[in-house]
Amino acid sequence: MLTVRSLKSYYESICALKAVSLHIEKGEIVTLIGANGSGKSTLLNSIIGLIPRITGTILFEGKEIQGLSSYTIVKLGIALAPEGRQLFSPMSVLDNLILGTYHYYSFKNRQKLNDKIEWIFELFPLLGKRKKQLAGTLSGGEQQMLSISRALMSEPRLLLLDEPSTGLAPKIIENIFRTLTELKEKTNLTIFLVEQNVNLALDICQRGYVIETGQIILSGEKEELMNNKEVLRAYLGKE
Ligand code: ATP
Repeated sequence: MLTVRSLKSYYESICALKAVSLHIEKGEIVTLIGANGSGKSTLLNSIIGLIPRITGTILFEGKEIQGLSSYTIVKLGIALAPEGRQLFSPMSVLDNLILGTYHYYSFKNRQKLNDKIEWIFELFPLLGKRKKQLAGTLSGGEQQMLSISRALMSEPRLLLLDEPSTGLAPKIIENIFRTLTELKEKTNLTIFLVEQNVNLALDICQRGYVIETGQIILSGEKEELMNNKEVLRAYLGKE
C-alpha cells in the first residue's frame, strides 16, 4: 500500500532523514519506534506532504505522491493525527470534525457528513456528549480522540498516528487503542503508528521499524522486535 524508497528529508541544510526505506501492506498496523529527535515525526510529515525539501520516492497504492500537496495526499486516502493533536482549540468538537471533511464537504452531501459524524460518535461516545464544547476545553484523552476522529473524517485508507498516547492515563490509552484495533478489524484500515510507548506499540502492531538519527536500523515482525536484544535494552529497559 505504501512504499518509501531512499527518502531524505531536509530542514534547510540539515538532513533529518537519511535514505529511509520501508513498506506497509494493506490492513497492517506497522509501528515506528525511536528516541526523541530520531526523525519519526519528520517521516510522517514527509509522507503527508508537510516537509517541502525531500528526495526519494513515496508510493501510495502504486502512485508517486512525493511533492504533492497535503490536500491532494489526504484526498488520495492518507490522513495524519499529528503530534500534539493540533486541534482548532477555539472551535467546537463538531466544527473540528467537519474540518476533517474539507476535501469533500459541500452542502449537497450534508447527509454523508451527518452519517460520518454519527459514526464517529459511535466509535467515541464521549465526543458525542461533548459535541458543542470547544476543543481547547476537552481533557487530554478527549482531545486525542478528536484528533484521530478528525483524521478519520477524511475517509483515509492509511491512518498515520504520531505519538497518540503522549500525556494520557493508561485507561484512556487502552480505550483509544481498543477502538483503533476494532476499527481496523471492521474496516481493514491500515495504520502506521509512531510511539514512544514501545510496549504499547509492539503490543498492537504486526510489524515494526526502529529509527535512529534519521536511519532505519532494524525492522521485523512484532515477535522479532520484542525479543531483539537492542530493543529490549534501549527501549524496554531490560538487559
Ligand atoms: P520526538 O519524539 O521528540 O517528536 P522525532 O523522532 O519525531 O522526535 P523529529 O521531530 O522528526 O524527531 O526530528 C528529527 C530531527 O529533525 C531532530 O534532530 C530535530 O531537531 C530536527 N527538526 C525537527 N523539526 C525541525 C525544524 N522545523 N527545523 C529544524 N530541525 C528540525
